[in-house]
Formats: sequence, C-alpha cells, structure tokens
Amino acid sequence: MTPGTAGISPLPAVESAFTLSWPESDIALLTFDLPGKGANVLSRSVLAELKENLAALHERKGVAGLIIKSGKPGTFIAGADLREFVVQLHAPKDQVVALCTTGQSLFGMLSKTPFVTVAAIDGICVGGGAELACWCDRRIVSCHPKTEIGFPEVKLGLYPGWGGTVRAPRIAGLANALEMITSGEPIDSKAAVLMGLASDRVRPDDLLRAAVRMIRDEQRSGAYVRDRKRWSGPLATEPTELGFLGATVSAVIQQETKGNYPAPSAALELMLETCSLDAPAALAREATGMAELFGTPVNAALIHVFFLTDRNKRDTGLDRKDVTPAVIRSVGVVGAGIMGQGIAAANLKTEIHVAIADAAEDALTLGARGVLEEASFDRKLKGPDAQRALRLGPLLTVSHSEAEIVACDLVVEAIVENAEAKKGLYARLEPQLRPQAILASNTSTIPITKLAEGLARPEQFCGLHFFNPVRRMKLVEVIRGKVTSDETIAAAVAYAKRLGKLPIVINDCPGFLVNRLLFPYMNEALQLLGEGASMKEVDRASLAFGMPLGPIALYDLVGLDTALFAGRVMWEAHPDRVLLSPILPAMVKAGRLGQKTGNGFFSYQNKKKKAQPDPEADAIALSYVKNGTKFTLEQLTHRLFLPMLLEATRVLQEKIVRDVRDVDLGLIFGLGFPPFKGGLLFWADTLGAGKIVEMLKPLEGLGERFHAPPLLVEMAKTGQKFYGLEMKSV
Ligand code: NAD
Repeated sequence: MTPGTAGISPLPAVESAFTLSWPESDIALLTFDLPGKGANVLSRSVLAELKENLAALHERKGVAGLIIKSGKPGTFIAGADLREFVVQLHAPKDQVVALCTTGQSLFGMLSKTPFVTVAAIDGICVGGGAELACWCDRRIVSCHPKTEIGFPEVKLGLYPGWGGTVRAPRIAGLANALEMITSGEPIDSKAAVLMGLASDRVRPDDLLRAAVRMIRDEQRSGAYVRDRKRWSGPLATEPTELGFLGATVSAVIQQETKGNYPAPSAALELMLETCSLDAPAALAREATGMAELFGTPVNAALIHVFFLTDRNKRDTGLDRKDVTPAVIRSVGVVGAGIMGQGIAAANLKTEIHVAIADAAEDALTLGARGVLEEASFDRKLKGPDAQRALRLGPLLTVSHSEAEIVACDLVVEAIVENAEAKKGLYARLEPQLRPQAILASNTSTIPITKLAEGLARPEQFCGLHFFNPVRRMKLVEVIRGKVTSDETIAAAVAYAKRLGKLPIVINDCPGFLVNRLLFPYMNEALQLLGEGASMKEVDRASLAFGMPLGPIALYDLVGLDTALFAGRVMWEAHPDRVLLSPILPAMVKAGRLGQKTGNGFFSYQNKKKKAQPDPEADAIALSYVKNGTKFTLEQLTHRLFLPMLLEATRVLQEKIVRDVRDVDLGLIFGLGFPPFKGGLLFWADTLGAGKIVEMLKPLEGLGERFHAPPLLVEMAKTGQKFYGLEMKSV
C-alpha cells in the first residue's frame, strides 16, 4: 500500500479512446485508438466518450471541420463490441429499440454539426464503424489493400441498427446499399468510390491532407449542407425499380440462405419500405424492426459462431503459455495430387516459400501448374491473374530430387492414403531433415501414432489435416500423436493460422474429430436406405436440417471407394457400434464410385453434371431393403443427427478435443454444419440432455449406436449442458 493512502484504493486511470488534435487551427482531428486492444470496437464507454467530444466540438466557435480517423494500423473501426451485445440478448424489445435510437441519435450528431464532418478511412471499416462513417458528411478511403467498407450484421442474424439501412441507400443508391446490407459482404476502396459511398481515394499517407482539402472545398461550395437536406428526406425511387429490386434481391437471398437466415429478407423488406419515408421515420422503423431480430435463436447461434472463431484466433493450441511457436519459413509438400496442390497454393498465397515433389513425374508437372493457377486465381477474372502468377512463381520450387524438400522447416506429406507408403517415405526423408524440422501428414484416416512408429523424432511429427477443397475449407485439424511435443503443436497451429485457417488440436483417434463424427451420420443414411427410405427422402431431411448437401450426395462427392475404406477403419476401431451396410460395397463393385466416375448413388451424365436419380443405383439399393418402413421427417432427422451427437459425446468423454467449442467449430468449418444452429453441441444444449435421452428411447432397439453414453446419462440427471463441461484436463 502506498504511504498516505491508507484505506483508499486509487481509481484506475481511465485511458481515453479518442485523442483530439488540431492539424489546422480550425480543423479538429479525433483519432480513435482503443487502449490495450488490437482493433477499435464501439463499446458503450467508447460511444459515451465520442458523444462528449462531439458535444464539446459542437459548442466550440470557429470550427470549420472535423476529421475522424483511426490510430490502429489496418483497422478504422471493426464494429460494435459484441461482448456487450451478448449480455443483452434477452433484453425486452423496448430496450433493444432504445439501444438503436441512442446509437442513431449519437451518430446523427455528425450530420448536425455547424461544420463539415469527414471520416478518413484506412483499413477495415465494418458494422457500427461503417454506420458511423455513413453519418459523416463525407468519407475518404485509402487505397491500402486492407481498406474495405461493409455491413456484416446479417451474418450475425441482424441488420445495421444505427442508421445504416437509412444512410447507406441515400448516399450510395438503393441497389448498392441493398447488395451490401443483404449480402453482408464488404466492398473495397475502389468500389466504395465508384458507388459514391466514398468521395475520394488516396494513398494512406495522404489521407489527412486530403481530408483537410475536402473540408475546405465543402466549406466553399456548401455542397455538404445540400446533401444533409437531401439525405434527410425520402429517396426518389420509381415503383418499377422497387419491384425489380425486390424480385431480384429476394431471389439471390433465397438461393444463398435457403430460407434459414431471416435477417437478409428482413433488411430487404425494411429498406424497400423505408426508402420512401423521411429519414427520421425510416430510422424509427429500423429500430423497431431490429427488435424483432435481436435475441432470436438464429441471432444467438450466429453470435455464438462469431465467438467460436474469435476464440480460435486467440487460442495457441496449448493450455500452457510458455511455448513460443517456431516460425515456419519454408514448406515442402510431398504429393502433388488434389490435396498437395491445394496446400502448396495456400502457402504461395501467404507468400511462404514452398517446394513440391511427387513420385510420378507427370503428376508433378501437372501439379505444379495446378498450384500456380490456384494461387494466382482471381475471383473477378474467374481465372489465373498473370501478374500475380509472375510474382508468386519464384516462391514455388518444383523438386525433382527431394533435395529442396528436406531443406524446409516443415514437410507436409500428402501422398496416397496407405500407411506403408507413407512410412516408407518418412524413413527416406527423416534422416535428411534439419534437426528442428517438423514432419506432418495430411492423412484423413490413419492414426498419427501408428504413422510415427519407426521415426527417430516422433515428437516432431503431427497430423495436419486440411480439408478439400483447401481454398474454401477453413478448418485444419492439428493431430497430436502419443508423443508429439507441445513445441510441434504450437508451431503447426501458428502456421495454419498464418495460412488464414482455423486450426483445432485433436488427440489422435481413428477419424480424428470431423470424420469420426461424420461417419455415424453417413453410415446411418445407408441404414435408412436399407430400411426402405428413399435416397431423396434421406437427403431432403438433411437439407431441411440445414446441411449444405445430403449424405447420399456427399457419398458421391467424397467417392464411394474412399468412403468404403474410411468405413472399414471406423468399423475396426468400434465394431460394437459400427454396423456396415452392404449397399456401399455393392455400388463400388458395380463401378459406381460417385461424381468422379459419372455415377454413384446418383447419375452425373448430363451437361451440368447435376445429380439425377438413376434407376440402376435405385435397383442396387432396393435389393438390400429388408422392410419397407415409412419414415416421417422428424424420424429421419433423429436417425441422422443423433448418432453424430452421441459420437460427439464419446469424443468429449475420451477427451479427444481440448474444449467443447472445438467440436462445433470443427463441424461448422470442416463439414458445413449449419451455422444458424450454432454447432452440434450448441444445438443439443437448446434441446437439453434430458430431452435427447427421451428422443433416444424409441431407437434403443437399433443397437449400441443409439445407446446414450454415460456422460449424456449423467448430464440428463444433473441438467448439465455441453457448454460448461470442464475439459481443460487434457
Ligand atoms: P491424390 O491421389 O490426388 O494424390 C496423391 C499424389 O501422391 C499422387 O500424385 C501420387 O503420384 C503421389 N504419390 C503417391 N505415392 C507417393 C510417394 N511415395 N512419394 C511421392 N509421391 C507419391 O490424393 P489426395 O486426394 O491429394 O490425398 C492425399 C492425402 O490427403 C491422403 O492421405 C488423403 O487421405 C488425404 N486427404 C484427402 C482428401 C480428399 O478429399 N482428397 C481430404 C483430406 C485429406
């Protein structure tokens, strides 16, 4: 205790989020730099501070303009503070309305000042940050590649509620604002200028000067005063334009959301209605509409998913904090097939030196070309960008002798799924690797501990399981073998994050996490066919639940031979509860391997390669039908998803994951489990363990696979939820 302050605990000094300075005697600059945080977010205390600053400036005489900029490199404002949102998820509707109107009137101060207001945007400007910028008279963007403006609220089951749905269409046009708000996708700085959302685009180091220039111009011309008046009125829109926009945007929304996400349609309806109102009336509608979305199950689930990914960004993969991950500077990829190409391209895109090798010379030549095409792919061009390919080309080494492979910090093996072939390769490579180098396998089924047998340094070996296609799938399972070291795990996790992935650390077991949970669901689909359900009925039940693809169609995508192999691995591991269907080997025997052979459970022999029912496949399946049971949608849903949930419970019992959240993250980002359900365990918690045990009762006669594991029985007794289970002992 400090002498002289006995009994009085000093108040912690509250550091300001905003700094006021004067680049010119009559031009104020508010720099937003949230102390102790990597990004600027709009919390209640930040908003209060902003209000104080704006009120003080409003009263001050002789101010010509105000510039708002960020003190954080790469971010203007990352949005509202979601942690504060979560606490209010169950708030009554009038409180939600008040939350919106308070924000609207605070930001509204920016368009009522006796001076010009300019947002100088360098970096990410999204959510509440984009709304704040929209309330300014003008926006200037930097040409930095990180600069973007977006309204991602629909991805959280909401829409902008601090005036975004009112200001954005009045500034950038209804069509542009609808696209931004209903898709939730950000636009870059060039697009912002093109659509009139930003007035100028300059180099980051010229942003302040340009803002000052703009204030002087606006003062002279008075254009901002005319715009203030214009933007506070209704938006002149023809009824035919409204009809056209309504029909086209709603069709796009339906295609994207399949009706499972209400926020984009709610935003569309709101904006079509409020564009013909004065801004104050439109703002009031925005606030009342927001209260309908706030706190709904979809909103709660999507906010939960946001926090799953947010936690993953901060998780090092270890519970201890004293391991500094080694930096991977060069990567060798062995196997230039589908996965090797994807993994090598992901490295190139991150500008990490990568060498690729393959036992087959033609596979290597084709593979290397595939890597460059993939790494230089441009979404707008819908093909490779030659400039990018030229820039990235020197970072790729095509290794004919493996000499370049063994010199790398990390070697990822992505060869054929055969334990002997993989072990043979390691026996040749390992003695040539650098002492600190990490060796990793992309195997999808073979236990890592088994592959490590015979290695001199098994502690420097782990699984690094990327998903197909690597470009799109964000999940990477980092698999810890029996003796894999913490240092190896930490380096692998940090590396996967550098590639922009979401890594989760899994303890070794057959199927790891995602395939282990996928298998019971896929296998149950075949059991249902054997009991008389049709392929269409089974897939429809899964789609209705929200899965992106039904299990039968998924068999065709994965390849029936691959699925058969994986099924055997799972059966060997758990013969008590894995009941293999004879339908799969029969299909494989008939040469029906899925999309790759043009037919599997469905036929793909048409121009667009779309799945079509195939009588030959139906006949094979029908020949194994024991009894022609009729299933309801609910029965099909229970049959498909309860086995997945029971397996997840066993995974928790066995401490295969470090945290319950990894199960949900893994399934959403590795399998496409519906985010609007928040993940498998989040969904199960909405039902409760007691209800799940009840749902299992009529299914118990089907065998061990439907028997509640002890953990679930215990949870049903105590009312314990999955979220809240203590897992940290791993
Ligand atoms: P692939 O058949 O497309 O490619 C494998 C490549 O490895 C071929 O080019 C082959 O010539 C080469 N190869 C085989 N033996 C070799 C050896 N001894 N030395 C060097 N090269 C050799 O296979 P893929 O689909 O890319 O799968 C590779 C690995 O990734 C497998 O372990 C697989 O289980 C795993 N995996 C695959 C997927 C998927 O969907 N395809 C997803 C995740 C993980």
